[in-house]
Parts: sequence; structure tokens; C-alpha cells
Amino acid sequence: MPRLARSILLGMLTTLALAWLLAALVPVPMYPRRVARVWLDRDGRAVSSAEVSLPGVLDIWWDDVKVPPGATEGQAVSAQRDHLDTLAAERRGTGQQMRRREGPPPLGTFRGETPADARSIGSDTAFGLPFPCLWYSVRSQVRNNALVGETLVGGIPLSGVPSARGRDFRALPLRPAWLRLGANIAFWSLAWWLAGAAVAWRRGRRRRRRGQCERCGYSLAGLAGGSSTPPACPECGAARPGVTAGRRNGVNKPARRDRPGTARSPSPPRPIPPSEGRANGS
Ligand SMILES: [Zn+2]
Repeated sequence: MPRLARSILLGMLTTLALAWLLAALVPVPMYPRRVARVWLDRDGRAVSSAEVSLPGVLDIWWDDVKVPPGATEGQAVSAQRDHLDTLAAERRGTGQQMRRREGPPPLGTFRGETPADARSIGSDTAFGLPFPCLWYSVRSQVRNNALVGETLVGGIPLSGVPSARGRDFRALPLRPAWLRLGANIAFWSLAWWLAGAAVAWRRGRRRRRRGQCERCGYSLAGLAGGSSTPPACPECGAARPGVTAGRRNGVNKPARRDRPGTARSPSPPRPIPPSEGRANGS
């Protein structure tokens, strides 16, 4: 498989594996909730949220804003916004600081159409590195100051009882936050590609020092160039280092020598000092 395709496949697997490992292993903290929001959702309903995050985890508590009698949902949002700003100002510099941000959370239940069962109270929890990218939701109702009908949505329960506010349960998230998922796959694909390139470069250098073909490792000892020797590995056909005028990545590109204007005078292969060959043999 070409290195690029292999890197992307490994990038996808790494992204998924990390998200699910985090979900299975990392306890989701309840506090501190550093980011608070209040907004009108697409149904015109006032919703507020509070977020806690740590590397690889984003947990969002959300619930309906209580609308005072006679007030509109929009007025409730304004009042709650003022309240959050006051709270943020009070907590500044206390170690309990929090910030209010505009709009709904960056992922979860409220990024698209609000689902019909997303009423009253719930939570969205996302996992992944570098960005939390897969999430599940717990939706619930408040009756007589208690949460009832708690339902895990978009996740596979692992342990504990799913709750919109309790955090002593584990589940595997299944819902993608597409932009973040794509960013994570790009990140890990690049990491795998760089790792593969580094390994190939080290292997090529080691083989060159040992007098072997860079591509297949066939020993080229005794075939040390000269005008009568073909400029390719007799085993795999790859161009010979040294014969391709010292090009480090000139493997498998013998045609380069025949470009018009290129001097057809291959320099002899670099002699291998015995000490170097031994010291770097691994
Ligand atoms: Zn070869």
C-alpha cells in the first residue's frame, strides 16, 4: 500500500481508537465549568450550558432557561446573559474564573436542528485528540426537582447509569463532530506519514553505508560501479546510490540521468570506510 494511503488509514484508526480509549478510561470531571453560554435555539427556546474540558474531553451540561411569567424567551436570554457576565466579573482572579461565550457549544445537540426529545435538561460529552470529535448525549426531564427518564443517545453504554448530571458512568461515543473529526484524521495521518518517512530515510541511509541497495537491501559489494556496470540494483532494478551522482532520493529514477543537458559522467560510488560500516551497523 502506498505510504500516503497507509498513513491516512492509520490516521483514521488512531483518531477513533483515541476517542474510544479516552471515553472508556478517562473519568469525566464535574467541575470546574469554565465556559458558560446562553442562547436562543432554532425553535426560539432559551437554552444555557456550562462546559468543563480537559485534554481530549469536553463535557457540556445544558438545560432550558427558566422564563419568568410575562417575559419572552428572548428576554430570558438577555437576563441570563447579564447574570453570567456579572458572575464572570465576580469570579475573575479567584481561581474559579469562568467566561461567557456567544452562541451554542462548538459541538453536540444544538449544532443542528434541535431534536424533539432534547427538552428540559441534558448533556453532551465528547472525546478525542487533539480535538474532542466523537460525542454522546444524555437527555432527561426535571420532575419535582429530580431527573427522570435519563436516556443515553448516540452512545454505547459501558458501565454505570447514564445521567445528564452524574458523571459516574462510561459510554462509547458514536456521533461525529465532522470538522473536528477531519482535523484529527489530518493530524494523525500527517504524524504517521512523517514517522514512515523517517523510518524509510534511516533504513536507506543504513543500507547505503553498508553498500546495499537502498530499496531491497541486496548487497552491492563487488559491483562497485565502473562504466561496464549497469546503473541499477541487479536484484530489484532500483537505481544505484553513487551512480545517480549522490542523489539521496534518486532511487528508482534512473531516467533522470538521461535528461538533456545533464552531464553523462557518473561519479564513482563513495568508498565505504570499514570503520564507518561497522560503527553504524545495527
Ligand atoms: Zn535492490
